[in-house]
Amino acid sequence: MSSTVPTVATMNIDTQGPVHQPGSDEYEHACAGYQRAATHRPDVVVTAHDATDVRTAIANSTQVATQIGGHGLAAPLTGGTLVDLGGLRTVDVDPARRTARVEGGASWQDVLDVAAPHGLAPLSGSAPYVGAVPYTLGGGFGLLSRRYGYAADHVRAFELVTGDGRFRRAEPGAADDVDRELFWALRGGGAGGGVVTAMEIDLVEVAVVYGGCLYVDLEAAPDALDRWRRWTSTVADDVTSGVTMLVFPDVPGVPDELRGRHVAQVQICVADPDGERHVAPLREALPAVRDTLGTWPFVRSGEMFEEPDHPHAYRSRAVSLRGIDPDALATLPDTSGASRR
Ligand SMILES: Cc1cc2nc3c(=O)[nH]c(=O)nc-3n(C[C@H](O)[C@H](O)[C@H](O)COP(=O)(O)OP(=O)(O)OC[C@H]3O[C@@H](n4cnc5c(N)ncnc54)[C@H](O)[C@@H]3O)c2cc1C
Repeated sequence: MSSTVPTVATMNIDTQGPVHQPGSDEYEHACAGYQRAATHRPDVVVTAHDATDVRTAIANSTQVATQIGGHGLAAPLTGGTLVDLGGLRTVDVDPARRTARVEGGASWQDVLDVAAPHGLAPLSGSAPYVGAVPYTLGGGFGLLSRRYGYAADHVRAFELVTGDGRFRRAEPGAADDVDRELFWALRGGGAGGGVVTAMEIDLVEVAVVYGGCLYVDLEAAPDALDRWRRWTSTVADDVTSGVTMLVFPDVPGVPDELRGRHVAQVQICVADPDGERHVAPLREALPAVRDTLGTWPFVRSGEMFEEPDHPHAYRSRAVSLRGIDPDALATLPDTSGASRR
């Protein structure tokens, strides 16, 4: 979108945080996220140090985006202003109320680190450097979700700046109708309601979990996904589990047991340190070539599924299903397997 409205690139705006121009290291660092298939190319980057900086950036540009981890980049910005929330990462925990106030730029690891000394945990996901706010705006289905539900269902309030440059506090008991409506829209409605500068969330009493991965060779066990599906229908709500298909190249550096194999990686997190009993029947049903299941301090839960932590190029899209169709599940290995190597 082009505009005749002056942008921060042409205005002498007054922000606490710095304004970065194309070509500077700070500009490139702020634009580059985890997702490298596309990158923001704004006119300027404003590194916000407080909510007033966010409002100033919004008020001086017609096109604004924000980025934290860059895991969820959908449409890159060309021109306009990228608001970098890296200066807004404070997390305050209230152990008595079991709540946290999380600033808009904080990652889940920032929250985990501050909550763990109190024996508390957020309803975070598998990747620790994903932004707590964008994850929650999208609903947030995480490691403890079958036990406690979506992250969005545990938000008490959002503080944000809307597109008209207004500060708002969206919460269920707000006096203003707009603030009450915004609260429900933001809980799972995704990005677009404004730039959230902080949120107040509930924490849960979880310090240690049982979890990890079972890697199953799909050539040796072609019905592994169906065995996993049948097990998921028998387990208690403490168990959250997923599965992903991976093809490992036959090259040095890949663990020997995975080299050259097409595997189903079954991911498991049990909200109970004594969770082994839930997983025993699955261990019997699946011949794993690699088994990393064990107890984990929840503060290190971001390592549990051995996901890549380095930026790379990919496209991703998420959909929610009411259930798993066994016939469709049976076709999944072929979509990622040998013929695609
Ligand atoms: C490896 C990996 C693992 C994942 N695991 C899970 C999981 O276990 N559970 C789950 O539910 N999801 C998961 N996701 C999805 C992830 O939660 C979303 O993609 C999330 O939006 C990414 O956060 P980010 O900080 O990287 O977002 P970014 O890519 O920086 O931003 C995503 C969107 O949110 C907007 N946004 C960012 N900050 C704010 C803010 N403060 N206010 C308003 N809008 C904002 C951005 O403008 C953008 O549109 C995963 C994604 C990846 C790549």
